[in-house]
Amino acid sequence: MNILVINAGSSSLKYQLLNPKTEQVLAKGLCERIGIDGKFTYKPEVEGKQALKAIDVAMPTHAEAIKTVLNTLIDPENGVIASMSEIDAVGHRVVHGGEKFACSVLINDDVMKAIEDCIPLAPLHNPANITGIKACEEVMPGVPMVAVFDTAFHQTMPPRAFTYAIPYEYYTEDSIRRYGFHGTSHYYVSRRAAEILGLPIEVMKIVTCHLGNGSSVDAIAGGKSIETSMGFTPLDGLPMGTRCGSIDVSIIEYLMENRNMSIDEVMSTLNKKSGMLGVSGVSSDFRDLEAAAAEGNERAKLAIDMFCYKTHKRIGSAAAAMNGVDVLIFTAGVGENSPELREKIASGLDFMGIKIDHGKNQCRGEERIISTDDSRVKVMVIPTNEELVIAQDTAALVSGK
Ligand code: AMP
Repeated sequence: MNILVINAGSSSLKYQLLNPKTEQVLAKGLCERIGIDGKFTYKPEVEGKQALKAIDVAMPTHAEAIKTVLNTLIDPENGVIASMSEIDAVGHRVVHGGEKFACSVLINDDVMKAIEDCIPLAPLHNPANITGIKACEEVMPGVPMVAVFDTAFHQTMPPRAFTYAIPYEYYTEDSIRRYGFHGTSHYYVSRRAAEILGLPIEVMKIVTCHLGNGSSVDAIAGGKSIETSMGFTPLDGLPMGTRCGSIDVSIIEYLMENRNMSIDEVMSTLNKKSGMLGVSGVSSDFRDLEAAAAEGNERAKLAIDMFCYKTHKRIGSAAAAMNGVDVLIFTAGVGENSPELREKIASGLDFMGIKIDHGKNQCRGEERIISTDDSRVKVMVIPTNEELVIAQDTAALVSGK
């Protein structure tokens, strides 16, 4: 069985074709600048097939982008399947499922309507996800599709964790509460840790740190997310590449009055010009920050220091929510690839039984236990694989399991 996994943004579309059983990836890639001009990247994982990197292909709509993907996948020379009939189903990443979806679902008219109903909760993301689904329906009629939600895994959070201390009717009438994001990633790495350690997830207390351009820390008790750092939107929690993370909301009013900014300008600044970029003035990218810090740039050093300090505190708070922690996991771009940041984040957590082994920690992008032998908490690096979860959920729903 082959599943096409689609992650559609407003002008981009990431894709991956994989076999969820063998976990073999056949091809993956990216369509960018959809609706502008169109750049196409294709990376077959089958020997003898040629990759394409950011080539110009006109993609006026997402449907054209999907057609480009399909034509390339079945291309006689460099394709990886003989015909479209070898694609059994499509799994779509959908950012927001609100309170309606606590797990993945087969897409039908009712589900589409429910995803549309969630647009006010994720006005930037859900419309793009819907466009991706509609484009696939147009180009691949009759092929079953599944929606996998970024929020679903966190639906197990109890009311005391997800309720904001604002008038209660804002929750009941306006759906304002913590939702949490990166759910598929937190789910995957927590399951993988249990598998690697050979322990039943039902008895484990796991803190997962998804640290990338967007970042969140999750507390997973008995396999269920019970507390997470992102909130109503992915703006909350840790400072990120360009997002501010948790701040005092009074700053918004203060900026509007003192800098004569509109609410749109303030929100755009907090989403796109804050975080690592805003503090350092250098870049939102952690590799650039590490390079600038190594050259002595004080603001780059401050941005890294602040990110590590706030992540460090969040790990403590996630452990407190579970009355302990057995496993600490690092994942995503920074978590998987930066030994320096992992060590900085975890230093001073030895009071909780967390000790990183400097030698074992010298790894990038591979599964590894990096704690010392006498560390009470196992510290692990686990590369995330959201596409695999999406493909496996899709396969299970399509085959009725
Ligand atoms: P993601 O959003 O998960 O793709 O992560 C992107 C972030 O990971 C960017 O800020 C990258 O700079 C960062 N990253 C990727 N590789 C490395 C590395 N080798 N060292 C430090 N940061 C890295």
